[in-house]
Amino acid sequence: MPWRREVTPYACWLSEIMMQQTTYQGVLGHYARFRAMFPTVEALAAASEGAVLKAWEGLGYYARARNLLKAATQIVAEGWPTTFEGWRSLPGIGPYTAAALASVLNGVRRSVVDGNVARVFARYWLLPDDFHAQGAREKLADRLDREMARAAVPGDFNQAMMELGALVCTPTSPNCAACPLARSCAARKAGRQSDFPAKPPKKALPVRTGTAVLVTDERGRVLLVQNKEGGLLKGLWELPTLTHAMDYEQTFSHFRLALSVEQARAGARFVDPATVALTTATRKILGFCKKGGKSRSTGPVTKDIPPPKK
Ligand code: SF4
Repeated sequence: MPWRREVTPYACWLSEIMMQQTTYQGVLGHYARFRAMFPTVEALAAASEGAVLKAWEGLGYYARARNLLKAATQIVAEGWPTTFEGWRSLPGIGPYTAAALASVLNGVRRSVVDGNVARVFARYWLLPDDFHAQGAREKLADRLDREMARAAVPGDFNQAMMELGALVCTPTSPNCAACPLARSCAARKAGRQSDFPAKPPKKALPVRTGTAVLVTDERGRVLLVQNKEGGLLKGLWELPTLTHAMDYEQTFSHFRLALSVEQARAGARFVDPATVALTTATRKILGFCKKGGKSRSTGPVTKDIPPPKK
């Protein structure tokens, strides 16, 4: 991993934020591109929110990009944190990320329990807990803190555990033959790797429906609207969505006309989609249409369609 070869605050902080809710395979290309655009924290702090959101495109969870920019401004003004509490005070940094950064960069003895680490130890110790629950993670962190007391370099201990989960003890096909913990792993001995960690029953997702319009001009620009509201999609550009206004009917001499009248939000304009940060749904729809897709039945399925704006 490129950020492991460059143990600097900027490289570690940026990679930890990118790795939140994203696999390392999904981050690699984005990390290199982002670093090329913003090689230092000063360059990042000086960038516009639009430029950062555009560079973040494809990683999702755009609140991370906005917090990254706010944190960069704070870091340039105050300097890099050197304690767990200092890292925790930056926007977008929770206890897990603060522990990872403080241990790797500042030698703080604080264990990290992310999904990868929880999976390794759920198998290693046959822990039945649901690690989506904060309490279960904290309990495991306490136990790992005691293990870490014997580690010479706390950052190495945390990184080793995280990478073991990311690269060896993977969710569906753990490579036990290559695992340094294999000889004492309870799940391997019992042949129960796939039973751990416990999986809570999946809830059925609600389906949101809406109607979006795709209009292009003669220059190939697309009619888009920027989301000005708060929430996860703030600042991103998307296809205008429609709200049903009324049904209209009229009888002519040879036919009856039935119109469904839809109302669009104001503020849409023709934009080159390559120059702005798009919502994931809009990016996927435009990519699909570019390839000539027309039919809903053959298109990509997304459950992220925003509801029509009232
Ligand atoms: S031996 Fe297998 S199941 Fe146990 S920690 Fe290693 S990879 Fe995971």
